Amino acid sequence: MSNSTIVGLKEKEKRRRRVNRLKKTIIGVISFWMLFSLAAIIILTVSLCSSNRRVNKIVEKINASGDAIGEVDNNNSEDELGDFEDDDPKEDVTEPINNDPEPEDPNDNVDPDAKKVYLTFDDGPSVNTEAILDILKEYNVKATFFVIGRTDDYSKSLYKRIVDEGHTIALHSYTHRYSSIYASLDAYKEDLQRISDLVYEVTGVRSKYIRFPGGSSNQVSRVSMKDIIRYVCGEGYTYFDWNVINGDATGKAYTVDELVKNVFDDCGKYDTNIVLMHDSEAKTSTVEALPKILDKLIEDGYLILPIDDNTTPIQHIKASSVLNN
Ligand SMILES: [Zn+2]
Repeated sequence: MSNSTIVGLKEKEKRRRRVNRLKKTIIGVISFWMLFSLAAIIILTVSLCSSNRRVNKIVEKINASGDAIGEVDNNNSEDELGDFEDDDPKEDVTEPINNDPEPEDPNDNVDPDAKKVYLTFDDGPSVNTEAILDILKEYNVKATFFVIGRTDDYSKSLYKRIVDEGHTIALHSYTHRYSSIYASLDAYKEDLQRISDLVYEVTGVRSKYIRFPGGSSNQVSRVSMKDIIRYVCGEGYTYFDWNVINGDATGKAYTVDELVKNVFDDCGKYDTNIVLMHDSEAKTSTVEALPKILDKLIEDGYLILPIDDNTTPIQHIKASSVLNN
């Protein structure tokens, strides 16, 4: 083999090695970038799944490393959340922010032996029932609604809302027409059954609490109220009259402040105070007076309760006086 052939072969071998090195280098660089990219994609994907906040932070880091902090949007809702360091997925910003926590139960701060107040509303539902429910919700207070018969969807939604929001739904009358319901014992029974069935169909509650239209001592019934009382008690109902009024059914147009004063003229005289008010459509002043009444009841340390089986009934004609005779 001549010298020139040997030199040629060595050159070829060197070139082959250079090419191989170059290939390895290129493959190495490509592999490195593929792995790097893959790793970056995995990190980004995992971060994206774990929380939007973390993605934002990573993107910020990638995009803005070395950059000045730049624009900080102080109106960003995340800023209002405050804690950017918390990576707990439960704290993800996509969760709704509860800016409206349920208000404290005013009864929590009251002596359990304090005087009790039962706010009761007759003759609804109406648009005022909705307003009253809104106020009661705001104060986190429960009341009692003695309802009449209404079959439109809006009224039905109010029966449901009364129950859903923890108030007591109670029975007043289906028609509330004194002349027909008090025409005979059968007429009274039929009217009571109708309102009981309607409330049950709409809310699923078979209420056992009633209030007679005009009260147990009304002078309009053509049937002896004692007969009606015997009947309702025999059916397992408890009837409730009242010992405090705001005066919204007296025929006199009281101002809001007078309605409040009327309540506190009598409220507090008794251990159990059952306040008669009305949530029928005309009684807008009652709605306006309610926050003032609640403010003072809370300030004066009353327990504000919905009627239940523990409530001492206030009865103008006592059931015991009828049933024992
Ligand atoms: Zn009534």
